[in-house]
Amino acid sequence: MRPLNAQIRLDNLRHNYQTLKNIHGNKLLAVVKANAYGHGAVRCAHALADMADGFAVASIEEAVELRENGIENPILLLEGVFEAKEYALVDQYRLWPAVCSQWQLEALLHHEWQAPVKVWLKMDSGMHRAGFFPHNYAAAYTALKQNPNVAEIVKFSHFACADDPESGMTEIQLEAFDLGCEGLEGEESLANSAAMLRFPEARRDWGRAGIALYGASPLGGSDERLKPVMRLSTRVFGERVLQPHSPVGYGAVFYTQKSTRVGLIACGYADGYPRHAPTGTPVAVGTHRSRLIGRISMDMMTIELDVSQEGIGDEVELWGDTVNINEVAAAAGTIAYELLCNVKRAKFTYYE
Ligand SMILES: *Cc1c(COP(=O)(O)O)cnc(C)c1O
Repeated sequence: MRPLNAQIRLDNLRHNYQTLKNIHGNKLLAVVKANAYGHGAVRCAHALADMADGFAVASIEEAVELRENGIENPILLLEGVFEAKEYALVDQYRLWPAVCSQWQLEALLHHEWQAPVKVWLKMDSGMHRAGFFPHNYAAAYTALKQNPNVAEIVKFSHFACADDPESGMTEIQLEAFDLGCEGLEGEESLANSAAMLRFPEARRDWGRAGIALYGASPLGGSDERLKPVMRLSTRVFGERVLQPHSPVGYGAVFYTQKSTRVGLIACGYADGYPRHAPTGTPVAVGTHRSRLIGRISMDMMTIELDVSQEGIGDEVELWGDTVNINEVAAAAGTIAYELLCNVKRAKFTYYE
Protein backbone atom coordinates (compact mmCIF):
# COMPACT_ATOMS: atom_id res chain seq x y z
CA MET A 1 0.00 0.00 0.00
CA ARG A 2 1.18 3.49 -0.81
CA PRO A 3 2.48 4.87 2.47
CA LEU A 4 1.00 8.39 2.41
CA ASN A 5 -0.76 8.89 5.74
CA ALA A 6 -2.78 11.73 7.20
CA GLN A 7 -3.00 11.16 10.92
CA ILE A 8 -5.82 13.20 12.42
CA ARG A 9 -5.37 13.72 16.15
CA LEU A 10 -8.85 14.48 17.46
CA ASP A 11 -7.48 14.96 20.98
CA ASN A 12 -5.46 17.87 19.62
CA LEU A 13 -8.58 19.25 17.96
CA ARG A 14 -10.39 19.18 21.28
CA HIS A 15 -7.41 20.76 23.00
CA ASN A 16 -7.36 23.57 20.44
CA TYR A 17 -11.10 24.19 20.73
CA GLN A 18 -10.86 24.48 24.51
CA THR A 19 -7.77 26.69 24.28
CA LEU A 20 -9.42 29.04 21.80
CA LYS A 21 -12.63 29.09 23.80
CA ASN A 22 -10.65 30.11 26.88
CA ILE A 23 -8.81 32.81 24.95
CA HIS A 24 -12.02 34.07 23.40
CA GLY A 25 -13.89 33.93 26.68
CA ASN A 26 -17.34 33.65 25.16
CA LYS A 27 -19.19 31.39 22.74
CA LEU A 28 -17.18 29.82 19.95
CA LEU A 29 -18.22 28.33 16.62
CA ALA A 30 -15.99 25.58 15.26
CA VAL A 31 -15.62 26.26 11.55
CA VAL A 32 -15.75 22.90 9.75
CA LYS A 33 -16.35 24.12 6.19
CA ALA A 34 -14.49 22.53 3.29
CA ASN A 35 -14.54 19.13 4.98
CA ALA A 36 -13.09 20.66 8.15
CA TYR A 37 -10.18 22.22 6.25
CA GLY A 38 -9.43 18.81 4.77
CA HIS A 39 -9.53 16.93 8.09
CA GLY A 40 -12.94 15.27 7.69
CA ALA A 41 -15.99 17.26 8.76
CA VAL A 42 -18.10 14.47 10.21
CA ARG A 43 -15.27 13.01 12.30
CA CYS A 44 -14.18 16.43 13.53
CA ALA A 45 -17.72 17.53 14.34
CA HIS A 46 -18.35 14.35 16.34
CA ALA A 47 -15.10 14.88 18.26
CA LEU A 48 -16.25 18.39 19.21
CA ALA A 49 -19.98 17.79 19.57
CA ASP A 50 -20.02 17.71 23.38
CA MET A 51 -18.01 20.93 23.70
CA ALA A 52 -18.79 23.13 20.68
CA ASP A 53 -21.32 25.95 20.99
CA GLY A 54 -21.97 25.40 17.31
CA PHE A 55 -20.45 24.68 13.92
CA ALA A 56 -20.05 26.80 10.81
CA VAL A 57 -20.03 25.56 7.23
CA ALA A 58 -20.07 27.05 3.73
CA SER A 59 -23.14 25.43 2.22
CA ILE A 60 -26.39 23.66 2.86
CA GLU A 61 -24.82 20.44 1.54
CA GLU A 62 -22.11 20.61 4.20
CA ALA A 63 -24.71 21.31 6.90
CA VAL A 64 -27.04 18.49 5.84
CA GLU A 65 -24.12 16.05 5.86
CA LEU A 66 -23.50 16.90 9.52
CA ARG A 67 -27.18 16.64 10.46
CA GLU A 68 -27.56 13.31 8.67
CA ASN A 69 -24.60 12.03 10.65
CA GLY A 70 -26.17 12.90 13.95
CA ILE A 71 -24.79 16.36 14.71
CA GLU A 72 -27.39 18.25 16.75
CA ASN A 73 -25.41 21.40 17.62
CA PRO A 74 -26.35 24.70 16.00
CA ILE A 75 -24.94 25.04 12.48
CA LEU A 76 -24.31 28.40 10.81
CA LEU A 77 -24.30 28.77 7.02
CA LEU A 78 -21.50 31.34 6.73
CA GLU A 79 -22.54 32.50 3.26
CA GLY A 80 -26.25 31.88 3.67
CA VAL A 81 -28.22 30.16 0.91
CA PHE A 82 -27.31 30.11 -2.78
CA GLU A 83 -30.90 29.64 -3.97
CA ALA A 84 -34.16 30.78 -2.36
CA LYS A 85 -35.52 27.24 -2.22
CA GLU A 86 -32.72 26.21 0.15
CA TYR A 87 -34.59 27.99 2.96
CA ALA A 88 -36.89 24.94 3.11
CA LEU A 89 -33.85 22.87 4.14
CA VAL A 90 -32.65 25.60 6.50
CA ASP A 91 -36.05 25.31 8.16
CA GLN A 92 -36.19 21.51 8.13
CA TYR A 93 -32.67 21.02 9.52
CA ARG A 94 -32.85 23.97 11.96
CA LEU A 95 -29.85 25.80 10.54
CA TRP A 96 -28.77 29.39 11.08
CA PRO A 97 -28.56 31.21 7.76
CA ALA A 98 -26.28 34.16 7.24
CA VAL A 99 -27.94 36.94 5.27
CA CYS A 100 -25.32 38.71 3.21
CA SER A 101 -27.27 40.35 0.40
CA GLN A 102 -30.61 41.87 -0.47
CA TRP A 103 -31.95 38.89 -2.44
CA GLN A 104 -31.19 36.53 0.47
CA LEU A 105 -33.00 38.91 2.80
CA GLU A 106 -36.09 39.17 0.61
CA ALA A 107 -36.28 35.42 -0.02
CA LEU A 108 -36.00 34.79 3.72
CA LEU A 109 -38.80 37.24 4.46
CA HIS A 110 -41.03 35.59 1.85
CA HIS A 111 -40.36 32.03 2.95
CA GLU A 112 -43.13 30.29 4.87
CA TRP A 113 -41.27 29.18 7.99
CA GLN A 114 -42.34 26.17 10.05
CA ALA A 115 -40.23 27.33 13.00
CA PRO A 116 -38.71 30.69 13.89
CA VAL A 117 -35.20 31.12 12.54
CA LYS A 118 -32.03 32.66 14.02
CA VAL A 119 -30.43 34.87 11.40
CA TRP A 120 -26.83 36.09 11.16
CA LEU A 121 -26.96 39.44 9.41
CA LYS A 122 -23.68 40.29 7.75
CA MET A 123 -22.25 43.76 7.50
CA ASP A 124 -19.63 44.70 4.94
CA SER A 125 -17.48 46.68 7.35
CA GLY A 126 -14.72 47.20 4.77
CA MET A 127 -13.63 43.91 3.24
CA HIS A 128 -16.00 44.58 0.33
CA ARG A 129 -16.74 40.97 -0.41
CA ALA A 130 -20.16 40.31 1.11
CA GLY A 131 -22.68 41.89 3.45
CA PHE A 132 -24.71 45.06 3.75
CA PHE A 133 -22.93 48.40 3.75
CA PRO A 134 -22.96 50.07 7.17
CA HIS A 135 -25.39 52.74 5.94
CA ASN A 136 -27.88 50.08 4.75
CA TYR A 137 -27.45 47.78 7.71
CA ALA A 138 -30.08 49.17 10.07
CA ALA A 139 -32.74 48.95 7.35
CA ALA A 140 -31.95 45.28 6.73
CA TYR A 141 -31.90 44.65 10.48
CA THR A 142 -35.29 46.34 10.94
CA ALA A 143 -36.87 44.38 8.08
CA LEU A 144 -35.80 41.14 9.77
CA LYS A 145 -36.78 42.35 13.22
CA GLN A 146 -40.34 43.08 12.07
CA ASN A 147 -40.79 39.57 10.68
CA PRO A 148 -42.37 37.23 13.25
CA ASN A 149 -40.48 34.27 11.79
CA VAL A 150 -37.14 35.78 12.77
CA ALA A 151 -36.41 34.64 16.30
CA GLU A 152 -33.07 36.38 16.77
CA ILE A 153 -30.53 38.42 14.84
CA VAL A 154 -26.78 38.07 15.31
CA LYS A 155 -24.87 41.02 13.89
CA PHE A 156 -21.67 39.92 12.25
CA SER A 157 -18.84 40.91 9.97
CA HIS A 158 -15.48 39.60 8.77
CA PHE A 159 -12.01 41.18 8.71
CA ALA A 160 -9.79 41.46 5.67
CA CYS A 161 -6.42 41.84 7.42
CA ALA A 162 -6.75 40.41 10.93
CA ASP A 163 -3.53 38.40 10.43
CA ASP A 164 -1.45 41.36 9.30
CA PRO A 165 0.27 43.32 12.09
CA GLU A 166 1.28 46.04 9.59
CA SER A 167 -2.29 46.82 8.60
CA GLY A 168 -4.61 49.29 10.28
CA MET A 169 -7.63 47.79 8.51
CA THR A 170 -9.05 45.90 11.48
CA GLU A 171 -9.34 49.01 13.64
CA ILE A 172 -11.12 50.79 10.78
CA GLN A 173 -13.49 47.86 10.26
CA LEU A 174 -14.23 47.66 14.00
CA GLU A 175 -15.19 51.32 14.03
CA ALA A 176 -17.36 50.96 10.90
CA PHE A 177 -19.10 47.95 12.41
CA ASP A 178 -19.87 49.61 15.72
CA LEU A 179 -21.13 52.72 13.97
CA GLY A 180 -23.37 50.71 11.62
CA CYS A 181 -24.75 48.74 14.59
CA GLU A 182 -25.57 51.75 16.74
CA GLY A 183 -28.90 51.27 18.50
CA LEU A 184 -29.35 47.70 17.22
CA GLU A 185 -29.61 45.17 19.99
CA GLY A 186 -28.50 41.56 19.94
CA GLU A 187 -25.44 39.35 19.83
CA GLU A 188 -22.38 40.13 17.75
CA SER A 189 -19.64 38.15 16.02
CA LEU A 190 -16.50 39.48 14.37
CA ALA A 191 -13.46 37.38 15.08
CA ASN A 192 -11.96 34.60 13.02
CA SER A 193 -8.87 32.84 14.43
CA ALA A 194 -6.43 35.68 13.78
CA ALA A 195 -8.77 38.35 15.13
CA MET A 196 -9.52 36.49 18.36
CA LEU A 197 -5.79 36.14 19.02
CA ARG A 198 -4.81 39.70 18.11
CA PHE A 199 -7.84 41.89 18.87
CA PRO A 200 -9.52 41.37 22.26
CA GLU A 201 -12.07 44.07 21.40
CA ALA A 202 -13.21 41.97 18.41
CA ARG A 203 -14.15 38.93 20.49
CA ARG A 204 -17.77 39.94 21.24
CA ASP A 205 -20.43 37.22 21.79
CA TRP A 206 -19.35 34.63 19.23
CA GLY A 207 -15.92 33.72 17.88
CA ARG A 208 -15.56 31.78 14.64
CA ALA A 209 -12.44 29.63 14.77
CA GLY A 210 -11.15 27.82 11.71
CA ILE A 211 -7.45 27.51 11.04
CA ALA A 212 -6.34 27.75 14.69
CA LEU A 213 -8.71 24.94 15.57
CA TYR A 214 -6.61 22.70 13.35
CA GLY A 215 -3.47 23.80 15.14
CA ALA A 216 -1.96 26.12 12.53
CA SER A 217 -1.17 29.59 13.79
CA PRO A 218 -3.07 32.16 11.71
CA LEU A 219 -0.21 34.56 12.32
CA GLY A 220 2.44 32.40 10.62
CA GLY A 221 5.16 30.57 12.51
CA SER A 222 4.05 28.46 15.42
CA ASP A 223 1.95 29.07 18.50
CA GLU A 224 2.79 27.02 21.59
CA ARG A 225 -0.83 27.04 22.69
CA LEU A 226 -2.05 25.16 19.60
CA LYS A 227 -1.38 21.53 18.68
CA PRO A 228 -1.28 20.42 15.04
CA VAL A 229 -4.23 18.16 14.28
CA MET A 230 -2.99 16.74 10.97
CA ARG A 231 0.31 14.96 10.59
CA LEU A 232 1.07 14.12 6.97
CA SER A 233 3.74 11.50 6.48
CA THR A 234 5.04 9.02 3.96
CA ARG A 235 8.03 6.72 3.49
CA VAL A 236 11.27 6.52 1.57
CA PHE A 237 10.88 3.88 -1.16
CA GLY A 238 13.97 4.63 -3.24
CA GLU A 239 17.50 5.80 -2.58
CA ARG A 240 20.61 6.55 -4.60
CA VAL A 241 23.93 8.29 -4.18
CA LEU A 242 24.59 11.00 -6.73
CA GLN A 243 27.95 12.43 -7.66
CA PRO A 244 28.54 16.17 -7.36
CA HIS A 245 27.02 18.22 -10.19
CA SER A 246 24.20 15.75 -10.91
CA PRO A 247 20.78 17.10 -11.85
CA VAL A 248 17.72 15.79 -9.99
CA GLY A 249 14.15 15.57 -11.30
CA TYR A 250 12.02 17.38 -13.87
CA GLY A 251 13.54 20.38 -15.54
CA ALA A 252 16.92 19.55 -13.99
CA VAL A 253 16.45 22.64 -11.83
CA PHE A 254 18.58 21.25 -8.98
CA TYR A 255 22.18 20.07 -9.16
CA THR A 256 23.99 18.36 -6.32
CA GLN A 257 27.00 20.28 -5.07
CA LYS A 258 28.60 17.36 -3.30
CA SER A 259 28.12 13.62 -3.23
CA THR A 260 24.51 13.33 -2.03
CA ARG A 261 22.23 10.55 -0.86
CA VAL A 262 18.83 11.18 -2.32
CA GLY A 263 15.63 9.58 -1.03
CA LEU A 264 12.52 9.11 -3.12
CA ILE A 265 9.29 9.51 -1.18
CA ALA A 266 5.64 8.84 -2.03
CA CYS A 267 3.97 12.23 -2.05
CA GLY A 268 3.45 14.66 -4.91
CA TYR A 269 1.25 17.42 -6.18
CA ALA A 270 -1.58 15.00 -6.96
CA ASP A 271 -1.73 14.42 -3.21
CA GLY A 272 -2.11 18.13 -2.64
CA TYR A 273 1.51 18.85 -1.81
CA PRO A 274 2.27 22.26 -3.38
CA ARG A 275 4.18 21.89 -6.65
CA HIS A 276 5.78 25.27 -6.12
CA ALA A 277 7.58 24.19 -2.95
CA PRO A 278 11.21 24.84 -3.89
CA THR A 279 14.42 23.03 -3.06
CA GLY A 280 15.05 23.60 0.62
CA THR A 281 11.46 23.22 1.81
CA PRO A 282 11.73 21.31 5.10
CA VAL A 283 10.75 17.68 5.63
CA ALA A 284 11.69 15.44 8.55
CA VAL A 285 13.15 11.96 8.30
CA GLY A 286 12.17 10.55 11.65
CA THR A 287 12.77 13.58 13.82
CA HIS A 288 15.76 14.72 11.77
CA ARG A 289 14.92 17.78 9.70
CA SER A 290 16.03 17.62 6.11
CA ARG A 291 14.93 19.27 2.88
CA LEU A 292 13.35 18.45 -0.41
CA ILE A 293 15.43 18.86 -3.55
CA GLY A 294 14.36 19.31 -7.17
CA ARG A 295 10.83 19.69 -8.46
CA ILE A 296 7.78 18.04 -6.97
CA SER A 297 6.42 15.34 -9.31
CA MET A 298 2.82 14.22 -9.46
CA ASP A 299 3.26 11.22 -7.15
CA MET A 300 6.79 11.53 -5.81
CA MET A 301 9.43 13.90 -4.62
CA THR A 302 13.10 13.70 -3.77
CA ILE A 303 14.73 14.63 -0.49
CA GLU A 304 18.21 14.77 0.94
CA LEU A 305 19.07 11.85 3.23
CA ASP A 306 21.56 11.69 6.03
CA VAL A 307 24.72 10.03 4.73
CA SER A 308 24.93 7.37 7.41
CA GLN A 309 21.67 5.79 8.50
CA GLU A 310 18.62 6.90 6.60
CA GLY A 311 17.10 5.03 3.70
CA ILE A 312 14.39 2.73 2.39
CA GLY A 313 11.39 2.38 4.68
CA ASP A 314 12.13 5.42 6.83
CA GLU A 315 9.17 7.56 7.70
CA VAL A 316 9.18 11.13 6.41
CA GLU A 317 6.99 13.85 7.85
CA LEU A 318 5.76 16.44 5.33
CA TRP A 319 4.12 18.51 8.06
CA GLY A 320 2.88 17.93 11.57
CA ASP A 321 5.02 17.84 14.70
CA THR A 322 8.60 18.37 13.50
CA VAL A 323 7.82 20.43 10.39
CA ASN A 324 5.37 23.26 11.04
CA ILE A 325 2.88 23.54 8.21
CA ASN A 326 3.44 27.29 8.09
CA GLU A 327 7.05 26.65 7.09
CA VAL A 328 5.94 24.62 4.09
CA ALA A 329 3.29 27.19 3.22
CA ALA A 330 5.76 30.05 3.38
CA ALA A 331 8.29 28.18 1.24
CA ALA A 332 5.63 27.46 -1.38
CA GLY A 333 4.19 30.97 -1.35
CA THR A 334 0.80 29.93 0.01
CA ILE A 335 -1.02 29.55 3.32
CA ALA A 336 -1.62 26.61 5.63
CA TYR A 337 -5.35 26.75 4.80
CA GLU A 338 -4.70 25.81 1.20
CA LEU A 339 -2.29 22.99 2.05
CA LEU A 340 -4.71 21.40 4.51
CA CYS A 341 -7.74 21.68 2.22
CA ASN A 342 -5.86 20.12 -0.69
CA VAL A 343 -4.73 16.85 0.93
CA LYS A 344 -6.07 13.87 -0.99
CA ARG A 345 -5.17 10.27 -1.85
CA ALA A 346 -3.74 9.92 1.66
CA LYS A 347 -4.95 7.28 4.07
CA PHE A 348 -6.75 9.13 6.85
CA THR A 349 -6.47 7.61 10.31
CA TYR A 350 -8.26 9.12 13.29
CA TYR A 351 -6.92 9.09 16.83
CA GLU A 352 -9.15 9.89 19.78
C1 LIG B 1 -13.76 30.60 7.10
C2 LIG B 1 -14.35 31.67 7.94
C3 LIG B 1 -13.94 31.84 9.27
C4 LIG B 1 -12.79 31.07 9.89
O1 LIG B 1 -11.59 31.74 9.56
P1 LIG B 1 -10.18 31.26 10.13
O2 LIG B 1 -9.24 32.30 9.63
O3 LIG B 1 -9.91 29.93 9.52
O4 LIG B 1 -10.29 31.21 11.60
C5 LIG B 1 -14.59 32.80 10.02
N1 LIG B 1 -15.58 33.54 9.50
C6 LIG B 1 -15.99 33.42 8.22
C7 LIG B 1 -17.07 34.29 7.71
C8 LIG B 1 -15.38 32.49 7.39
O5 LIG B 1 -15.77 32.37 6.11
